[in-house]
Amino acid sequence: MTQMARAANPEVGHLYDVIVVGSGAAGLAAAATAAVDGRRVLVLEATDRVGGTTAISGGMVWIPANCKMREAGLPDSADAAREYLRQTVPDSEHDPRMSAFLARGDEAIRFFEQHTAVKLRPVRRYPDYYPDLPGATAGGRVLEPLPFDGRALGEDFALLRDPLPELTLFNGMMISREDIPVLRRVGRSPGAAWHTAKLVARYGTQRLRHHRGTSLVLGNALAARLYKSVRDLGVPIVRNASVVGLETSDGRVIGVRADIDGRTVSLRADRAVILATGGVSHHHDLRRDYVPTWAGDRSATVASGADRSGVHLARDVGAQLTPASSSVDGAFALWVPVSQFKRADGSPAVFPHIVTDRAKPGIVAVNKEGRRFVNEAVSYHEFGRAQLRDPARAIPAWLVCDSRFLWKYGLGRVRPFTLAVSREVQTGYLKRSTTFEGLAQAIGVPGDAFADTMRTYNVAAERGEDPQFGRGSNIYQRHLGDADHQPNPCVAPIERAPFYAVAVYPADLGMAAGIVTDEFARVLNREGRPIDGLYACGNDMQSVMNGQYPGPGITIGPALVFGYVAATHAVQADTNRHSSFARPA
Ligand SMILES: Cc1cc2nc3c(=O)[nH]c(=O)nc-3n(C[C@H](O)[C@H](O)[C@H](O)COP(=O)(O)OP(=O)(O)OC[C@H]3O[C@@H](n4cnc5c(N)ncnc54)[C@H](O)[C@@H]3O)c2cc1C
Repeated sequence: MTQMARAANPEVGHLYDVIVVGSGAAGLAAAATAAVDGRRVLVLEATDRVGGTTAISGGMVWIPANCKMREAGLPDSADAAREYLRQTVPDSEHDPRMSAFLARGDEAIRFFEQHTAVKLRPVRRYPDYYPDLPGATAGGRVLEPLPFDGRALGEDFALLRDPLPELTLFNGMMISREDIPVLRRVGRSPGAAWHTAKLVARYGTQRLRHHRGTSLVLGNALAARLYKSVRDLGVPIVRNASVVGLETSDGRVIGVRADIDGRTVSLRADRAVILATGGVSHHHDLRRDYVPTWAGDRSATVASGADRSGVHLARDVGAQLTPASSSVDGAFALWVPVSQFKRADGSPAVFPHIVTDRAKPGIVAVNKEGRRFVNEAVSYHEFGRAQLRDPARAIPAWLVCDSRFLWKYGLGRVRPFTLAVSREVQTGYLKRSTTFEGLAQAIGVPGDAFADTMRTYNVAAERGEDPQFGRGSNIYQRHLGDADHQPNPCVAPIERAPFYAVAVYPADLGMAAGIVTDEFARVLNREGRPIDGLYACGNDMQSVMNGQYPGPGITIGPALVFGYVAATHAVQADTNRHSSFARPA
């Protein structure tokens, strides 16, 4: 248990209106919504930190036709979004949950903006992942949290989950999206050098008093804003509180059983229990119903250590789950290629190759035959699914680059401008050779085929072309490339020795399978009827995107919206039928 875990928990009463299980985006959104309505709300969190996977995420929030993009003059409409989703998410036009997401997304955002510390802004340039399809937008559907000063949480800042260390500098300095290209120019532009110096100086002063930088961005800023909101609304968040069961009476859920600091207690929820435990990524008994064993059990999400997920809890009271059948192409999870390593303390970790390297100019992915198998600049989900479609040859795959690329963009956990990479070579994370033949040997692929792959790629790359897979062929890919590199931001030859490779495997960054709900986020039983008093949102809820990944922020967007929808419905629901619990004086 960490030092943070010893910070005292708030007193736990025994009767609440709403009990929320899990303190990620979905849970805290639900808690804030119910608390704004004046309800007695309790949040139970299994770990010693608040924020869940949300706190280590990019914090992107996908909400079509939102008010923020309208204010910024960016065009969109619910019809355009519906058309785009019709083509990217099968059956979405018949899914009442999707209609609710589109109809109420903007309402949810306005609610949070008005009543809580959650403040979002549109990302003007961040295309949908299939930007050539009708109804796609080039930006604005995705919102990001405004940066947040962690000091506003006071002592509770220490209880907020830290971001991924691999995505911070100097062991705790967060980097915003806008700062990345500036940092990349640091050696070439006095302006960039000055900006960087200011960031580092600010970080230095923050570290005098805190265990990490307090200028928060991305998912950490979102989790912090939600945390501050529920705290200011007087909602206790109890950590080290693992929910192990649901209490029921006459078919209605009336509370939870939770292990809190080693004691099992029963807590009553007069109106609703809202499940938001982040899904079954780390619960192998249920995960294997949805992910074939050969896909592996790697997950980029935070493990709660809890015995039971919200999905287990709901199943135990008769909830309907996504039908179990391992989908061959991984349609029941959201995928990202990850590389594996051990942290300095020996703990195993994965680096999610989301946006930092795959689409940059001068890198290819090869399979075990030394051949390319995918356009490396497509979304992480598409890349992962390409691996899953050909597991025998493409798991693991190898990302291959040269020394110029490694210096400029980094590779996985190796950051740009790293002077000495020998340690990463010694640990085996990076493979290195001065020749293609040598690198082929190091990664165990046929030398002739690999040399041929590199030769073929390089010939066209000289002209900025990729006739084989079309890297850089749409605005999404070019957005993730390097705008300073022309004519194609995603294509450059791989020619300056030594050459490097890192192995990548598919991992989930959230499950798409989970609890079946209706459009109010009410948990449905096996006959399709709502279970009174029980709601699910976030990754506990079967994804409204049906295992597809149409744009950035398609898990946190619905997590916020259905957290809001669940709580709104719960506080409005008629409670006369279960008035056997006296409300506290
Ligand atoms: C590196 C990375 C980047 C990502 N970037 C984005 C992005 O930019 N946009 C996007 O939309 N998605 C992104 N995702 C996915 C996204 O972060 C998650 O899908 C989302 O945060 C899940 O939110 P949640 O509220 O469902 O769960 P979580 O945020 O994981 O919260 C669940 C909480 O429940 C707790 N819990 C679990 N079991 C119990 C129990 N029995 N009792 C009590 N508490 C329990 C957990 O400890 C956890 O704190 C990213 C994922 C990763 C890994």
